[in-house]
Amino acid sequence: MVEIYDLLILGAGPAGMSAAIYAGRYGMKTLIIGKEIGGTTNLAGEFENYPGFTGSGIDLMKKFEEQVKTFGAVFEIGSIDKLEKVEEGFCVSVGDKKFVGSSVISGLGSERRKLGIPGEGKFLGKGVSYCATCDGNFFRGKIVAVIGGSDSAAKAAIYLASICEKVYISYRKEKMRCEPINLEKIEAMKNIEIIYNSKPLEIVGDKNVNGLKLESLDGAKLVDVDGVFIEVGSVPLTVIFDGLGVELENGYIKVDKEGRTSVEGLFAAGDGTNNPFKQTITAAADGVLATRTAYNFVKLGKK
Ligand code: NAP
Repeated sequence: MVEIYDLLILGAGPAGMSAAIYAGRYGMKTLIIGKEIGGTTNLAGEFENYPGFTGSGIDLMKKFEEQVKTFGAVFEIGSIDKLEKVEEGFCVSVGDKKFVGSSVISGLGSERRKLGIPGEGKFLGKGVSYCATCDGNFFRGKIVAVIGGSDSAAKAAIYLASICEKVYISYRKEKMRCEPINLEKIEAMKNIEIIYNSKPLEIVGDKNVNGLKLESLDGAKLVDVDGVFIEVGSVPLTVIFDGLGVELENGYIKVDKEGRTSVEGLFAAGDGTNNPFKQTITAAADGVLATRTAYNFVKLGKK
């Protein structure tokens, strides 16, 4: 006989993990399926905007994990290959394994957007990085560039400037659009130079990166750098929803304010949804709301 869960949670980032805490409290038979515990919050540097907590993203997600485990949560660590509608609800495939649940909450977030320029793939791990907090230490005392103009780029630049000789930020518009507090910090750091209105053309090097070609208002130029940190946002992980008829908005899963998607029994929370503010704290809160809605659906028959 196939074991049927009340709830399958996809993704073990802040949305999925907070959903798991509430599912435990609601007494739902739950399985959390994800590639790694923590998700992209693991890549965040120091947190200043998660109330009641200071420390790294990794530390925060370790605390989530400890708390989730106190509710007896069960994890399946692996890559989700398929999500299908079945008579009992939904079936999730992870390799050869299949898991069936009456409801699903997707807490699948997003993956880093690529620039798609020459050298980006070739020098990955040889000077090209998508994570300043993971790789920054390799560039201690060196010169690096950060690409992007929002908060991830700003945070990366601030951290890198604290350990590198010089940090360039290449941004395609005329004014950084990060939170004002992050811009103030950037402006206070003498070793950050913002190159506005610039477009990265190519990352160059021999064995490792040694330059970044930019198209700027003064024409094309080569900036000598040892590393390039690409912080140009993320794209939502929605491939597994293809064929289920899930309504999307600009590529993100469309949810109502209680986490319902357009497919009955399928709920979603966090960065993969059309919610406008993509933060760890909002993902965690979305996960809680979606769990309440899933509980009402599974246990009380409310749609
Ligand atoms: P984001 O807000 O989507 O910003 C991506 C940045 O990359 C934008 O500046 C964008 O330019 C640029 N970009 C996108 N595609 C590009 C391309 N092909 N070439 C060059 N530049 C490109 O992503 P994010 O910075 O990762 O932030 C995601 C969310 O998390 C945001 O809501 C952000 O506020 C939040 N966040 C907050 C903090 C914090 O400290 N509170 C830290 C990290 C992230 P345009 O500006 O021209 O679109």
